[in-house]
Amino acid sequence: MSAFPTEAKVVIIGGGIVGCSTAYHLAKAGCDEVVLLERHKLTSGSTFHAAGLVGQLRADANITELLTYSVELYASLKEETGLDTGWKANGGLRLACCEERLKQLEQQTKTGQSFGLPMEMLTPSEAKELWPLMDISDVVGAAFLPTDGQANPSDLTQSLAKGAKLNGARILEDVAVTGIEMEDGKVTAVVTDQGRIECEVVVNCAGQWAREVGAMAGVNVPLFSVQHQYLITEAIDGVTPGLPTMRDPDRLTYYKEEVGGLVMGGYEPDPIPFAEEGIPKGFHFTLLDSDWDHFEQLMELALPRVPALETAGIKELVNGPESFTPDGNFILGQAPECESFFVGAGFNAFGIAAGGGAGMALAHWVMNGEPHADLAPVDIRRFGDAYRDIGKVKSETLDAYAKHYALAR
Ligand SMILES: Cc1cc2nc3c(=O)[nH]c(=O)nc-3n(C[C@H](O)[C@H](O)[C@H](O)COP(=O)(O)OP(=O)(O)OC[C@H]3O[C@@H](n4cnc5c(N)ncnc54)[C@H](O)[C@@H]3O)c2cc1C
Repeated sequence: MSAFPTEAKVVIIGGGIVGCSTAYHLAKAGCDEVVLLERHKLTSGSTFHAAGLVGQLRADANITELLTYSVELYASLKEETGLDTGWKANGGLRLACCEERLKQLEQQTKTGQSFGLPMEMLTPSEAKELWPLMDISDVVGAAFLPTDGQANPSDLTQSLAKGAKLNGARILEDVAVTGIEMEDGKVTAVVTDQGRIECEVVVNCAGQWAREVGAMAGVNVPLFSVQHQYLITEAIDGVTPGLPTMRDPDRLTYYKEEVGGLVMGGYEPDPIPFAEEGIPKGFHFTLLDSDWDHFEQLMELALPRVPALETAGIKELVNGPESFTPDGNFILGQAPECESFFVGAGFNAFGIAAGGGAGMALAHWVMNGEPHADLAPVDIRRFGDAYRDIGKVKSETLDAYAKHYALAR
């Protein structure tokens, strides 16, 4: 085993999908001496419990482009690293149950097409052909993006980590960062429970811990943890491996196929915050207790859409916390407080979809001191000093979560 490093050019903190993707892209772009530190095991934060839907469409063209880049990367990564990612391009359906939503979908389809995405509008019966288990009595139209898909979040992350190592990055597990040393406003070293590493740049990819890691360097990372749940069923007749992912925004829910059964989750209008006093120690590979009472409202919305859920066997109701942000977009880039400190965190339950592209963008930013495109909607600099007030961050974040599928988005 090689000795613990005492020097590096770039230290990445956090071994979830975003940290591993950033390490992969930095190493591939020829940045030498990249060290990733994970305080427990890779994927042990939020990544291991993600449902794995990978959708591409966002309101902003450049952010959509990042997610499209993710899809292209996930489709080819296995060939490069030899490690499977579970990637499946089974397409993504999005339903409309009112005229206003239909107009929104038509607009999104036009926008998607203008970004080069092969997105198309479908009639309710065409949508049902793709998703035979659903009841379409309240559906007025749908949009379909055949290049959307799903992946296995843990396998994908391990594959990115292997790609990073193959290109020269070092990935160290069971190393916790406990402090960051600074001189003249610049990072000089990270302090860990195994020793000190002198470095030029720190990249904070610490997921829901990113606020506390940022504070080690005086950098504000305005995110808040919220509970997020999804149900996993036993096998259901008619659920095939090629079933597209489906989003049903008027019923606040989403679906994907898993081992012949369904995953069904959603965004409640009354979200429950997690760990307001700080994330408990030892919170690795940890889920929260299933909250059936709270999930009931989503179940009531889902049953009329997918009547087979009524009789399906239930494997598990997964309840995992994830970091969300005051405007529902992730936080990326060079911290305004310190030019040698970068952040990639607060992924609002689309970090698997965004991970590939966000890692690519962050690596470019670190190496060039500027983003490769206009990334204003996710740029950390969009949050002013007012977002040092954690009460404000919490209330706006819960509001953004509750409006996840609102018509304006
Ligand atoms: C129930 C649920 C379902 C989801 N479903 C989807 C989905 O279908 N599609 C999708 O795109 N996204 C989904 N997500 C979101 C996705 O899981 C996250 O956005 C993504 O995993 C975030 O990755 P990350 O790398 O930013 O954070 P994490 O995976 O949390 O990684 C951060 C890492 O940093 C480490 N760390 C923290 N502090 C330190 C320190 N001081 N020193 C060293 N290491 C440290 C932690 O141990 C952790 O491993 C879902 C989330 C939840 C909760």
